[in-house]
Amino acid sequence: MNCFLAPSVWSKRMRIYDILEQKRRGEEHSREQLEFFINGFVSGDIPDYQAAAWLMAVCCNGMTDRETATLTEIMAASGDSVDLSRFGERSVDKHSTGGVGDKTSLIVAPIVACCGGKVAKMSGRGLGHTGGTIDKLESVPNFRTELSSDEFFETVEKTGMAIIGQTGNIAPADKKLYALRDVTATVESIPLITSSIMSKKLAAGALSLVLDVKVGSGAFMKTEAQARVLAQSMVNIGKRLGRNVTAVLTDMDTPLGSAIGNSLEVAEAISVLKGECRGDLYEVCISLAAEMLSLCLGVDTAKAHEMAQEAVSSGKALSKMREWMAAQGADVRYIDDPSLFKRAEYVRELKAEEDGYIASMETARIGAASVSLGAGRVKKTDVIDPAAGIVLSAKTGDKVKKGDTLCTLYTSSPDRADEAERIFRGAVTLAPQPTTRPPLIYGIIK
Ligand code: URA
Repeated sequence: MNCFLAPSVWSKRMRIYDILEQKRRGEEHSREQLEFFINGFVSGDIPDYQAAAWLMAVCCNGMTDRETATLTEIMAASGDSVDLSRFGERSVDKHSTGGVGDKTSLIVAPIVACCGGKVAKMSGRGLGHTGGTIDKLESVPNFRTELSSDEFFETVEKTGMAIIGQTGNIAPADKKLYALRDVTATVESIPLITSSIMSKKLAAGALSLVLDVKVGSGAFMKTEAQARVLAQSMVNIGKRLGRNVTAVLTDMDTPLGSAIGNSLEVAEAISVLKGECRGDLYEVCISLAAEMLSLCLGVDTAKAHEMAQEAVSSGKALSKMREWMAAQGADVRYIDDPSLFKRAEYVRELKAEEDGYIASMETARIGAASVSLGAGRVKKTDVIDPAAGIVLSAKTGDKVKKGDTLCTLYTSSPDRADEAERIFRGAVTLAPQPTTRPPLIYGIIK
C-alpha cells in the first residue's frame, strides 16, 4: 500500500504522488494530469496536504504558458459559466487587480455601454485594504446586486450593462485553491494568480477583456516589473483561450481620486460623469474605457479615446448610469443629488502639522485607515458602514502649508477616527522639497 495516496485515489491509474514528483522536478503537466488534479481536489478526493505540496512546487518551479492556459480552462470549467454569445463581438469586461479608491467600474461601464459595448459584469466585495464594487453599489438605496439570470440578461439587453455580485458557483476550483494558497504562502506565483483571475473572467463569458493591473504601495504588485510580468502572462493566457485581452498598468502608489469608502466613492463617480472632476481618476477611466471600446467595437485607440471623452462631456454616460441603476432598482434621486446620501455621524478634518510637499502615501495603510473607519472588512462577516471613509484634500506631489486640510475622516465615533488618524498620519510623508508622482499609466500590453 502506498501511504502517500488519498484512499479514494489508490485505485486510479494516474497517481497524485507522480504529479507532485513531476512538478517538483519542474516538468510540464499534461491536460489529463491537470484535470485529474483539479477535479480530484474540488471533489475532495485529493486532500489539502497534497494540493498544498503541488501549489508550493508550482510556486518554486513555475508553469509553461501552455500549462497555465490549460489549468485556467479546467478551473473555469469547474463551475457555472455565463454565455454572452448573444452579444457577439460587443461583450466586454474589465478586471482590476484591486486598489484603494478604485471606483473605475462605476464610471467606465456606463461610458462603454453608452458607446455600444455590452458590459455584463460580475464584481466582488472588498476584503482587506481594497474596496469592492458590490459594496459601493449597495450603498445606493434599493440597488439590487443580485439578479436572476433572466433579469441580468434583460438589463444588459435594455441598457447595455449590468453589474451583479459573483454567483457562488463561478470557478469553484479557484475558490478552494485560493483559500489554500492564502494559508500556505503560495499566493505569489504568476501562473497561479493568472489562472485564478483568468478562470473567473473566462467563466464570466465576455469575448473582450481589459485588465487594470495596479502598480505600487496600494496594489498587489508593488513594482512595475512585477506588474508587467503578471499583465503579460494574463494577456498571453487570454489570447491562447480565444479572448481579446489588453492590460493597462496603472498607478496605485497613491489612492485613485479623492474618495475612499462606499457612498463617498459613488458620489465621486457621479461627479466624474457630470464632468466636474478631471484628475487622475478621470484620466484612468478614459484610458480603460478607450481600450474596452477599441476591443469590442474594433476602432483604433485614438478614436476610442475621443468616444469615451465625448460620452462624458455630452452627459450621455451620466444618463446611462442613471438608466442602468434604475434598471437594477436603485433610488435614482441619489444619482441626481448625491448630497442625499446619509452623512456619517462623526466627521474630522486632519490638518498638516508642518509645511512641505507630500512625498509619499503608503496606499495600503490609507486603505487600512478607511477600513478602521468602518468602510471595509477585516473579516468576511464584518458589516460595512456605507457612509464611512476618507476624502483626500491633498495627494502625492501636492504642496501643503501647516494647518491645511490633508483629508476628512467620516465615521461613527471619535474612537474610530482616533485609530484612523494614527494610521493615516503614519502613512503620509512630507518632504521639504518638491516631489513628483509616478506616472498614472505605466504602459499598455496588447
Ligand atoms: N486576485 C485573484 O482573484 N486571484 C489571485 O490569485 C490574486 C488576486
